Amino acid sequence: MFKFNDKIAVAVSGGKDSLALLQILSKLKTTPPKSPLIALTVDEGIRGYRDEAIEISAEKCKELGINQHIVSFEKLFGHTLDSIVAKSRRNASSELTPCAYCGILRRRAINIAARNVGATKIVTGHTLDDEVQTVLMNFLRGDIVRLKKEKPVTDEIHPEFVQKVKPFCEVPEKETALYAYVRKINFQTTPCPYASEAYRNEARAILNRMEEKYAGTKFTVHNFIERLRPALKTLELGDSYEECSECGEPSSGGLCKVCELLEKMK
Ligand code: SF4
Repeated sequence: MFKFNDKIAVAVSGGKDSLALLQILSKLKTTPPKSPLIALTVDEGIRGYRDEAIEISAEKCKELGINQHIVSFEKLFGHTLDSIVAKSRRNASSELTPCAYCGILRRRAINIAARNVGATKIVTGHTLDDEVQTVLMNFLRGDIVRLKKEKPVTDEIHPEFVQKVKPFCEVPEKETALYAYVRKINFQTTPCPYASEAYRNEARAILNRMEEKYAGTKFTVHNFIERLRPALKTLELGDSYEECSECGEPSSGGLCKVCELLEKMK
């Protein structure tokens, strides 16, 4: 996942997974390869939720001596997530869940922040559970392009996209939670107010039920998709990019998803 001289940007949300990852990586960097670490935190603008997470992650970064960069939706896009959700509900124009809006803008925000600090890798705390939920969601939506794209080490598809890696992709979420408790890591436990509306919840419930009944299901799904990767790679899907006509960021269509979303907010 890493090269010797990578400059690593860790996406830190203040939750158990990203803080456990930050703590582990901060230890690893003391042995070769000696890669500088930077923490990136996205402030989506979620009242009563994100402020606490920023405080907790800032404390951890200070303890570990890691620089933290905070990037906010409001500064980058001119809107908080709260205002986007409120507006889409007012106009009854919401074909997307708050998490879908959040995901589109967060991916862009993290990539811009990573580029700005000169990072060569973005590291996220996605666990085995997150990974197989994503596989199931893409499968249920019939989204073969994302099934191909979303993986533990993303392809270097465009110079403007910083490569993403997920070192916890084979670590069950229960184990990152256990690590955080054992290491007495202070993490945020307050759930996001929009979390109950997430499509992901259904995928999580199905997989947890299956895992309980048939132990090993999550690893089976993960291994299955990894074995399928060489075949997915041969499919020419979502591989070409052009500049977004509005913002100039790489886009698979004329207008990128972020600009499409911001256009609707006008
Ligand atoms: Fe964003 Fe949804 Fe996560 Fe809340 S639960 S931070 S809205 S992705």
